[in-house]
Amino acid sequence: ATPMSIMVGVGRGAQSGILIRNAEALERMEKVDTVVVDKTGTLTEGKPQVTKLVPFNGLNDTELMRYAGGLEKGSEHPLAHAILEKAASMNLTLPDAEGFDSPNGKGVIGTIDGKKILLGNRLLMESESVDTTSFEEQAEQLRSDGATVIFAAVQGQVCGLIAIADPIKETTKRAITAFHAEGMRVVMLTGDNRTSAKAVARKLDIDEVEAEVLPEDKGKFVQRLKDEGHIVAMAGDGVNDAPALATADVGIAMGTGTDVAIESAGITLLRGDLMGIVEARQLSIATMHNIR
Ligand code: ADP
Ligand code: MG
Repeated sequence: ATPMSIMVGVGRGAQSGILIRNAEALERMEKVDTVVVDKTGTLTEGKPQVTKLVPFNGLNDTELMRYAGGLEKGSEHPLAHAILEKAASMNLTLPDAEGFDSPNGKGVIGTIDGKKILLGNRLLMESESVDTTSFEEQAEQLRSDGATVIFAAVQGQVCGLIAIADPIKETTKRAITAFHAEGMRVVMLTGDNRTSAKAVARKLDIDEVEAEVLPEDKGKFVQRLKDEGHIVAMAGDGVNDAPALATADVGIAMGTGTDVAIESAGITLLRGDLMGIVEARQLSIATMHNIR
């Protein structure tokens, strides 16, 4: 494509909220055969809400949420936001946590009232040797509808489950139908639990699900698809998506997402609407074939 036609393409994109950072992104878009999408904040609104509290071991809702809220004050994850919102709605005064840590893609850890608190997925519990087996059945039930289940552990014992659900964006289903119409395969790549991920994928007709993927493995997964000969677009919003966005032939960040994701991507969808991918592809075709 000529520099002039690229300028025209970039300008048209900007008019519809598609910010194209480099010419390669625009040039490659027409050849994409696989769209890899992150779940939370990309397919979904990224505004999850607590839908159920299940305290155990003598804890009540208030005590569970006091620990959970105290710990999540230190996190910027969308799930942390949901927990803090719930705590606020219960008018809780949240304690401060000491020794806060947040292992990427797993959850948060800290000490409150002298007790070690863990909040996160099964991976986090396993890495801290907390046994979750007797709570799995109840967790699976909550996940089968698409909710993400967070385990809360106090002093090495599971003391509660928190179910958090994130509504699918209104435009997502239409975008996926359009990807299929363009002959592109759609793969969900998420750090979330397999059952929750599959429940969401089923609602959206997604072709393949890669769940429980650690952030560093998201990039490797995209590289593997490229090694197999695919031309890959990756859409994501989080810090954890940045390596995958940088690895993809075309990295696409949600404008509603983190700065790190935006900086790693060639294209930013200002409104976070995945239909922008279809538009970007049409722009690419027009640019590469000099169609005005
Ligand atoms: P996604 O790929 O869907 O955006 P992440 O990689 O950010 O997900 O997180 C993966 C999983 O790690 C979450 O589904 C959750 O179980 C756990 N997790 C991450 N951060 C937190 C947090 N601040 N509080 C609780 N759980 C968390
Ligand atoms: Mg995300």
